[in-house]
Amino acid sequence: MRLPDFTLHQPRTLAQAFAVTRDGPFDWLGGGTDLLCNYKWRINVRANVISLRRVPELRQGLLGAGRTLSEVEHDPVLRARYPAIAQAASMIATPLIRQSATLGGNLLLDTRCWHFNQTAEWRFAHGSCLKAEADVCRVLPDPGNLCVAAYSGDLAPVLLAYDARVVLAGPSASRSLPLREFYAADGIRRFRDKKPDEVLVRAELPADAEHWTVRYQKLRLRQAFDFPEGGVAAAVRWDHGWAADIRLATTAYDSIPLLHEDLVAPHRGSSLDDEAIEQIAQALEETVRPMKNTSMSPSYRKKMARVLCRRALQDCRPQGV
Ligand SMILES: Cc1cc2nc3c(=O)[nH]c(=O)nc-3n(C[C@H](O)[C@H](O)[C@H](O)COP(=O)(O)OP(=O)(O)OC[C@H]3O[C@@H](n4cnc5c(N)ncnc54)[C@H](O)[C@@H]3O)c2cc1C
Repeated sequence: MRLPDFTLHQPRTLAQAFAVTRDGPFDWLGGGTDLLCNYKWRINVRANVISLRRVPELRQGLLGAGRTLSEVEHDPVLRARYPAIAQAASMIATPLIRQSATLGGNLLLDTRCWHFNQTAEWRFAHGSCLKAEADVCRVLPDPGNLCVAAYSGDLAPVLLAYDARVVLAGPSASRSLPLREFYAADGIRRFRDKKPDEVLVRAELPADAEHWTVRYQKLRLRQAFDFPEGGVAAAVRWDHGWAADIRLATTAYDSIPLLHEDLVAPHRGSSLDDEAIEQIAQALEETVRPMKNTSMSPSYRKKMARVLCRRALQDCRPQGV
């Protein structure tokens, strides 16, 4: 499949990148492993594509937005101190794709849906949807004008479990905000208040991140290849055998990655025994609302939320418990 025509800009600084945004409609480009697939399908193509590959600021720090997933996966510091991040990166797509795909592109991944991620011919034959050329949702008859396409990135739930922040740079200012406040529950708008001309520079972990045990579990059709049909990250801060604090985050069940504070709150300070884990896992199964817009059935994905949650929390326990 051929790419459509567009002008590729390759700035070497953020200032140069922001200057190009004044040329007209544009998209930022990380590794292009998501954006350019959509372009080949003639989905929301813009006249200008601004590659961030040559901007050094984005490659700085452990979680620079411009670092490739392969670099994240093999980073010795991440593997030793924050293994869940390296592990989640290693479970994304294929080794070849991870050579180009970036951390920033993963956190900013477009939402996905059966009725959207299709060729132009398929969409026009079928009637398209409100995320592309039409004004109806093909998943829910009346979604209240909100797109229900699924956010299916693997790093976001893990970074939510670590309570990470994201740093954005715009033409006139930079800012940092908690990742938990970044996403908007609308598959089209995607972000609560990110301006189109803002660039994601990096993610940052809180000072106490190393005191948390974080684990990630993923459900997918083909283990070597596919997007998550469900993903659960669990994080526990242990204190003398007690789960002093717990976090639980999911991906692929909604238009945004979600943090489930209310499900774990009653178990903070507990020993997180099998019964507690089962209660949390059951509550998660009852909470998630997968839509009929991916390969697997919503009922199976819902049931598997419980299994993934149980496994992730069990993996967080100290060995031998
Ligand atoms: C076969 C296949 C399998 C895949 N499997 C998975 C999977 O299992 N899990 C998963 O999470 N993903 C998967 N992906 C999707 C994709 O490869 C990854 O999510 C990847 O990390 C996207 O990063 P990228 O740099 O290529 O993003 P791009 O395609 O370059 O960009 C994605 C979006 O982010 C924006 N963007 C990128 N960087 C920035 C920035 N720094 N600031 C502002 N905006 C930015 C772009 O404008 C675009 O909207 C798969 C893709 C393919 C083709």
